[in-house]
Amino acid sequence: MSEILIYSDNDGTALELVSAGKEFAEELGATVSAALLGDGAAGKADDYFSYGADKLYVSEHPALGDFYVGTFAAALQQIVESGDVEFLLIGSTKRGKELAGRVAQKLNAGAITDANAMRVRDGNLEADRYSYGGNTMASQVVTTPKKVISVMPKTFELGPSEAKQGEVVNVDLDLEDPPVKVVERRDKAGDEVNLEEAEVLICVGRGVQSQEDLAMIEELAGLLGAEIGCTKTPASDWEWFSEERMVGLSGKKCKPSLYISVGISGQIQHTVGIVDSKIIVTINKDENAPMFNFTDYGIVGDYADVVPELNQKLKSL
Ligand SMILES: Cc1cc2nc3c(=O)[nH]c(=O)nc-3n(C[C@H](O)[C@H](O)[C@H](O)COP(=O)(O)OP(=O)(O)OC[C@H]3O[C@@H](n4cnc5c(N)ncnc54)[C@H](O)[C@@H]3O)c2cc1C
Repeated sequence: MSEILIYSDNDGTALELVSAGKEFAEELGATVSAALLGDGAAGKADDYFSYGADKLYVSEHPALGDFYVGTFAAALQQIVESGDVEFLLIGSTKRGKELAGRVAQKLNAGAITDANAMRVRDGNLEADRYSYGGNTMASQVVTTPKKVISVMPKTFELGPSEAKQGEVVNVDLDLEDPPVKVVERRDKAGDEVNLEEAEVLICVGRGVQSQEDLAMIEELAGLLGAEIGCTKTPASDWEWFSEERMVGLSGKKCKPSLYISVGISGQIQHTVGIVDSKIIVTINKDENAPMFNFTDYGIVGDYADVVPELNQKLKSL
C-alpha cells in the first residue's frame, strides 16, 4: 500500500496537510504518515495522530537540532527510501520550499512547489500552482515513482480531530553534523506580525498617497481589531512597512474573516493572497478597479473621506 508522507517545519501547516492527506489517502487506497524531526519531536505525536496520521516517523537526532536544509533533506530521503512512500507533501514555508527541491533531487523525483490546490486524478495527486507571475494557473502531476509536492500554508482547512493512536517508528537516521553551526540567535529587529492568522486584515495600496494618512487606517484597524498588510509598493519601494506585511504572490497568503482593501487596484499578484477571505470590502475611487470583481461590499470614493467616516460610525456604535 502506498504512503503519503507529510513534513513541515511549521506544525500548523503539517496538520493541515495531515487532514487533507487523510482524505486523499482514502481515495488513493493509501496511508498517511508524518515525519517529526528535531528537538521535542516525540511530544507532538498525539496531535498528529488526532488529525489522522496512521504512522509517525520520529527522530530527535542531534544533527536535527537546528534547521539546516541539507540535513533535513537527508533525513527525509532516508525515511522515504525506508518504506513505501510515494508522495512526500511538504509545507511550502520559506524553509519548506528549499527543502522540497533538495529532497526531490536526492530521491531523483519530480517536484511541484507552491501548490495552492490539490486533488486526486487517475490515481495520482494533481496540484495547481500559479505560473507566469500569477497570471495563469497550471495544473500539474509528477510522473516519477516518488513524488514531492510543497503545498502553501492554509491551502487546506484543519479537519476534525479525535483522540487516536497509531504506529510510532523511531527512525535510526544516519546523519552528519550540519556544516553550519548556529553561534547566536537574535530576535529580528522591528516588525513581528503573523498576517496569516489575522481574523481581520486591512491592506494598504498605492492609492494611499501619504504616510500621514496611515494614521486614519491604523485607527480603523484599532477599532476593528485588525492587522495591517499592504501591496508591494508600500513595502518594497516606499518602505512604509516591512516585507513581512506584504500580501500576495511574493508575500503572505491570508484567509481572514474580513479583509478591507484601501487604494488597491486588484492585480492578481495581490489578490492571490486574499481571495479566500470570507468577506471582502473594497475602498477605491475608481469604480472600474478590478478589485471590485472580488468584492462583497464596495465603497467607491476617496479613502481620505471614506475611512474617517467609517471610523466615526464605528466609534458611535
Ligand atoms: C512577480 C511579481 C510578484 C508580485 N508580487 C506581489 C505581491 O506579492 N503582492 C502585491 O501586492 N503585489 C505584487 N506584485 C505587484 C503587482 O503586480 C501590482 O503592481 C500591485 O499589486 C499593485 O498594487 P496596488 O494595487 O497597491 O497599486 P495600483 O495598481 O497602482 O492601484 C492603486 C489603486 O488605488 C486607487 N486609488 C488611487 N487613489 C485613491 C484614493 N484617493 N482613494 C481610493 N482609491 C484610490 C486607484 O484607483 C487604483 O485602483 C508583484 C508583481 C510581480 C511582477
